[in-house]
Amino acid sequence: MIVEGTVLRGRALEPVEGRVVVEDGRITAVEEADVDSDDIVLPAFVNAHTHIGDSIAKEAGAGLSLDELVAPPDGLKHRLLREASREEKIEAMRRSLRFMESSGTATCVEFREGGVEGVELIREATAGLDIDPVVLGRETVDAMRDADGFGASGARDGDFDRARNATREEGKLFGIHAGERDSHDIDPALDLAPDFLVHVVHPEPVHLDRIEDGGVPVVVCPRSNLVTGVGVPPMRELADRTTVALGTDNVMLNSPSMFREMEFAAKLGDVSAREVLQMATVNGADVAGLDYGCVEPGREAKLLVLDGDSDNLAGARDVVRAVVRRAGVDDVKDVLL
Ligand SMILES: [Zn+2]
Repeated sequence: MIVEGTVLRGRALEPVEGRVVVEDGRITAVEEADVDSDDIVLPAFVNAHTHIGDSIAKEAGAGLSLDELVAPPDGLKHRLLREASREEKIEAMRRSLRFMESSGTATCVEFREGGVEGVELIREATAGLDIDPVVLGRETVDAMRDADGFGASGARDGDFDRARNATREEGKLFGIHAGERDSHDIDPALDLAPDFLVHVVHPEPVHLDRIEDGGVPVVVCPRSNLVTGVGVPPMRELADRTTVALGTDNVMLNSPSMFREMEFAAKLGDVSAREVLQMATVNGADVAGLDYGCVEPGREAKLLVLDGDSDNLAGARDVVRAVVRRAGVDDVKDVLL
C-alpha cells in the first residue's frame, strides 16, 4: 500500500512531499517525491487519557464542581453509571470509540471504572472496531490483571501501594491522576513511581524537579480542566521538563476529539503547534509503550489522511499549524488503522 501527499515525517513532523510505503501493516519507507495529491498524511492520534464509561452522561451536571461531577463513589457520574444497564453502557462506549476512530484516533488510554466487569464491558464495546484502546483497570488488582495496567484515581482517594506493586510485577502500565485541583496529591503520587501522571495543573517547583529527575511523563487534559474550573496546566514548564501527552478525559465533559483538544492546547498554552501535534501522537505512544504515533520506517502504519484541499484547509501556509489549530473531523479523508 502507498499513501501519498504532504507527509508529516518522523518525530519532528517535518512536512515532506512524497509517499509512505506500507507492507504487512508496517511502514517500510517514507520517500520524498513529486506527487499529485493535496492530502496531508500524519500519524493517527494517541488519545492519552479518557474515561469513556460516562458516555451515557454527556453534558450532564452543568455547574457542578469537580467533586460533585466525578469524585468516587457518589459523584454524579458514578450515580448515573450505577443506574445505567450493562447494554446501555456498552452501546454508549461503542459509539464514543467509533467517533474516536472516525476522527483519526488509533487508541485511547482508558481509565476504566467498574473493576473486572468494567474491563469486560469495554472489550465488548470494542469488538469489530479498528481502534485499539489501552485499558487500565481500576479499583481492584484483578481488574489490572485482566487489563493493560492500572489507572488510579488519585493518591488522596486511597492507598495504591499494593496495586502499584502488583502492576509492576506484571510489567504493566501504572498511571495516576495528580495535581488536578491543588498540589497536595502530587508528592504521594510520585512516591508510587508511576509510569505517568495525569493533569498536573498545579505543580510547585519541587514537583517539577521530581518529575524531571524521575523522567515521569505527564498527560495534560486542558479542556477538561477548563470545564471543571481547576485552571490551565503549565504546558510550557512541563514540556521543558518531561514528555507531555494529550488526552480528552471524560466524555461526559468533552467530545473525545483530538482536533478540539489540540486547538485548545495550542491556543491556551505557550507551546508550538509542532509540540502539540507531538503531544497528540508520538508522545502518547511513548507514554503507553506503543509502536505507532510516528511516520517513520519500522513503525506500525496507523495513519490519518486529511484533505488539504478542503474548504477549511485550502491555502494554509503552515501545514502543521493548520492541522493543530484549524483542522477538524470534516477534513478527515481516511483513517488507516
Ligand atoms: Zn481522568
